[in-house]
Amino acid sequence: MTVPDLELFRCSACQSRFLPGDGPCPRCGGIRLERYAAPGVGTVLAATELEVAQEGWNPPHRLALIEVADAVRLIAAVDGDLPRVGAPVEVRVDGLIYRATAVEPSSRERGEGDSPKAGSAGAPFEPPR
Ligand SMILES: [Zn+2]
Repeated sequence: MTVPDLELFRCSACQSRFLPGDGPCPRCGGIRLERYAAPGVGTVLAATELEVAQEGWNPPHRLALIEVADAVRLIAAVDGDLPRVGAPVEVRVDGLIYRATAVEPSSRERGEGDSPKAGSAGAPFEPPR
């Protein structure tokens, strides 16, 4: 599997790392930013499904808060099933937004005796209908 790169930003003054990089550093206000590449993978911190989608989107509109490299967080539109918290996802840039797609953890990432879950049935964030 090839992992697409993400472009993150680092403040030259305080070394904070963040997104987006279209303004000053959110921590110190510094304006000297360095771009750097990070793997386009992350971990889901929260996810939700909107039954009434914003104009231009087809419901259900799934969104996830994702932590990528260097503890940088972003919001992404989710392609496919709603991911569970802690799930690994692949993140890519699509125009002006980020998109996330669930990836199955590899056997070495599972480790520590966790029992693997089969499929994505029974997602913990299934909203009431
Ligand atoms: Zn800074």
